[in-house]
Amino acid sequence: MYDIAQIRADFPILSRQVYGKPLVYLDNSATTQKPRAVVEAITNEYYSVNANVHRGVHFLSQQATELHEASRETVRRFIHARSANEIVFTRGTTESINLIASTFTEACMKEGDEVMVSVMEHHSNIVPWQLAAARKGIVLKVIPMDDQGVLDMEAYRKLFTPRTMLVSVAHVSNTLGTVNPVREMVAIAHSRGVPVLVDGAQSISHIPIDVQALDADFFVFSSHKVYGPTGVGVLYGKEKWLDRLPPYQGGGEMIQTVSFERTTFNELPFKFEAGTPDYIGTHGLAKALDYVSAIGMDEIAAYERELTTYATGRLNAIPGIRLFGEAPGKSCVFSFLVGNIHHLDMGTLLDRLGIAVRTGHHCAQPLMQRLGIEGTVRASFALYNTKEEVDALAAGIERVRRMF
Ligand code: PLP
Repeated sequence: MYDIAQIRADFPILSRQVYGKPLVYLDNSATTQKPRAVVEAITNEYYSVNANVHRGVHFLSQQATELHEASRETVRRFIHARSANEIVFTRGTTESINLIASTFTEACMKEGDEVMVSVMEHHSNIVPWQLAAARKGIVLKVIPMDDQGVLDMEAYRKLFTPRTMLVSVAHVSNTLGTVNPVREMVAIAHSRGVPVLVDGAQSISHIPIDVQALDADFFVFSSHKVYGPTGVGVLYGKEKWLDRLPPYQGGGEMIQTVSFERTTFNELPFKFEAGTPDYIGTHGLAKALDYVSAIGMDEIAAYERELTTYATGRLNAIPGIRLFGEAPGKSCVFSFLVGNIHHLDMGTLLDRLGIAVRTGHHCAQPLMQRLGIEGTVRASFALYNTKEEVDALAAGIERVRRMF
């Protein structure tokens, strides 16, 4: 039984008003709201446990360390990694990708080698590779898509060359909602001996994740996209890869011994965790994962599928609407334009009705170029949204349309 009333009650912000209207929060791809359990865990840790981790013999430090390492274990369980050594805490998806872009290209690539991304990537999965490309003369190859927003798998197969060293692809597009066939893409890449990084920023809150079943070599996500605090993220990497890669940043925690002559590095995962980690944030993330696990990721996915079907019908019925991203089995994100109404005007007027959507290029300018547009309005749903909110969105769009 999916208790939507209880779920909504768990998120205090959902009961607030904006401009005297009930908040309809549909900007979940940008960030999700936080349940009380997460906020209280963070507050309580600051009030009663706070101490730096790993370095203290005293009681509080040990307790904070236990919470931090238990959080790592919670993440491991949530994504079904083999070992907690494969869970590296970072600041978020962006830092996780930068870490791999920097260390993988350093250790495993030379000039003229190729990295493959898709046309629907977030800038976070484009620019780190471009920076590496500029440093090392690496070539970026781009997997195309069709007009529905489905990746062209034939073209993908053909893009492999003996110089292809890595594929880095979004699990779910933040703009189109396309759920890419990452398991199949990994299998194809592995048949050519090429590892794959899966950007799970937009799948982590919607799809049960099993990194071993996906056979992904790297899987990255941000805590704030899955009802956890900002400033924390995860890099999952198979141990065989993480062992091969050099440290990303230097500092405390990532070392074994330091002398001016020679420094040796810590074991996994600490080799990649320089400096004081956000140990309060990791605890918050673990509470968020506990929260969605208690509801059930399968149940959440089923509920959101129903919401997606309903919203697809309601939005498609609006005269003059153009939906971008119509891949079968898409996630609950809707990018659209209506007639000649500028996306910014639509977003601003919806906001006045209490409806929070995002407008613009959604950090996917190459995708906008592929679609031949400047930007869209994006409504993105989460586990706490309702059909009534879909109705409010549809009515709001109709109202704006009539104004124009
Ligand atoms: N990748 C995708 C697909 C995203 O949607 C986002 C954020 O919207 C990111 C990467 C970057 O995430 P963060 O800003 O949390 O690092």
